Amino acid sequence: MGVSVEVATDTEEAAPITVAYGDGIGPEIMTATLRVLAAAGARLAPETIEIGERVYRRGVGAGIDADAWASLRRTGVFLKAPITTPQGGGVKSLNVTVRKALGLYANVRPCVAYAPFVATRHPGMDVVIVRENEEDLYAGIEHRQTDDVVQCLKLISVPGCEKIVHYAFDYARAHDRQKVSCFTKDNIMKMTDGLFHRIFDEVAAAYPDIAAEHLIVDIGAARLADTPEAFDVVVTPNLYGDILSDVAAQLAGSVGLAGSANIGAHCAMFEAIHGSAPPLAGRDVANPSGLILAAVMMLAHIGQPDVAARMHNAWLRAIEDGLHTADIRAAEAGAQSVGTRAFADAVIARLGQEPVHLGRASYTAGGVRAAPIGRPAARPAAPKEEKEMVGVDVFLDWSAGMPDQLGTALQATVPASLALLIITNRGVKVWPDGFPETFCTHHWRCRYLAVDGGAVDHAAIIELLQRLAAAGFDAIKTENLYTFDGVPGFSLAQGQ
Ligand code: NAD
Repeated sequence: MGVSVEVATDTEEAAPITVAYGDGIGPEIMTATLRVLAAAGARLAPETIEIGERVYRRGVGAGIDADAWASLRRTGVFLKAPITTPQGGGVKSLNVTVRKALGLYANVRPCVAYAPFVATRHPGMDVVIVRENEEDLYAGIEHRQTDDVVQCLKLISVPGCEKIVHYAFDYARAHDRQKVSCFTKDNIMKMTDGLFHRIFDEVAAAYPDIAAEHLIVDIGAARLADTPEAFDVVVTPNLYGDILSDVAAQLAGSVGLAGSANIGAHCAMFEAIHGSAPPLAGRDVANPSGLILAAVMMLAHIGQPDVAARMHNAWLRAIEDGLHTADIRAAEAGAQSVGTRAFADAVIARLGQEPVHLGRASYTAGGVRAAPIGRPAARPAAPKEEKEMVGVDVFLDWSAGMPDQLGTALQATVPASLALLIITNRGVKVWPDGFPETFCTHHWRCRYLAVDGGAVDHAAIIELLQRLAAAGFDAIKTENLYTFDGVPGFSLAQGQ
């Protein structure tokens, strides 16, 4: 690594952290950030690791090797510059790998407007997006099932929801914020997003001092874009959070200004939200602010709130004084454009000063730490529910005719203990009594229930699959249908 800056000022108290300089503009903004950290008096003992482009080129598909993992697991704190992800196959997203492997379940992204010093349409904006980071459609479980249909599994768990929602409320409390808004699409995804919403309501009851609201994500996103001042903390499942956090950062002024934290029970990662901006690399023009503000979040997290406030306030003062990199230069505010190094110098020169117009930053000891594993849930431990298998959905790859022909052919293969209830195509009922107008793919979901309305055993399902195979059907997958204390644990097919 060509650049490195010593940060430790007092090895007695120095907190070990892992530092990666990354690719593109990464080394420049990391050097600037470490200089500011050192000047602010951060008590850090950095270990440097190599990640990204050069590691990918060595044939390591995840962009991070065993020594780097060892450092991360040793220090538990990762200050990371952006990396360049090579195009093409065989390469995995380093960010997704690190988040999942280290259990970094909470992605926290403050999106703040700095009007009138940085141009924005929403001068009063000050929103923190808390995005669930491990679940949802990001499990990476995808299948091609027919020549014309692929699927991606959306997985949402009770502990996953509890951890992220508790984190959002704990964050709100620790940062003196008044309201947590939850965005889901539970009017459509009643079981997955419905679980997230239900746990949000349950956890919210344990924080009576914080207002709580739920919005369907589409109208929530529209209101966030139109009136971000109406929001304080937003907690949301992974995919919506991924999209909304970029939208919110851009609305606030610039993606170049936002830092983010990825928090887990054992480790935490801090980084700017932007990428490695290869065209700007080596030109001393990149804005180091996103990484500087990520480092401020890191200081609060590792218990150095005094240094976090000192650094953040100096940064705010530099922005107020019109010291701006080219990406956010606001002519109307009389700003002059400075380079990466000069901007870091400007922040360092203002350490000990506070902003005059923008709100002063302050941090409490420890910031918000992740909930320890096994934290008691807000809801009382429920007795284990009785789980009963009552049917099966069999998915077929079939292209030999019309839905009525499929229904007739399938009825000839049903074992005596089961009854074929309904056939759907992409969720729409096509048998019995389907509409000829319904567009059909080659992907059919066939729902079987016990003839007597009672339990179904695995032997009956195996017999069904054997009969289907013998009749020449391609059963591409099955989903068992369970009730829990008599309540269906599956969505009802439309028309059922
Ligand atoms: P990018 O964020 O690097 O750049 C988008 C735009 O913002 C460009 O115009 C760029 O010049 C500008 N920009 C970004 N950061 C800036 C800064 N600090 N100062 C001034 N201007 C800045 O996104 P991209 O171009 O889509 O991606 C480039 C590479 O970064 C890709 O290889 C991508 O995979 C990677 N990437 C990495 C991360 C990460 O490591 N966390 C995140 C996003 C993208």
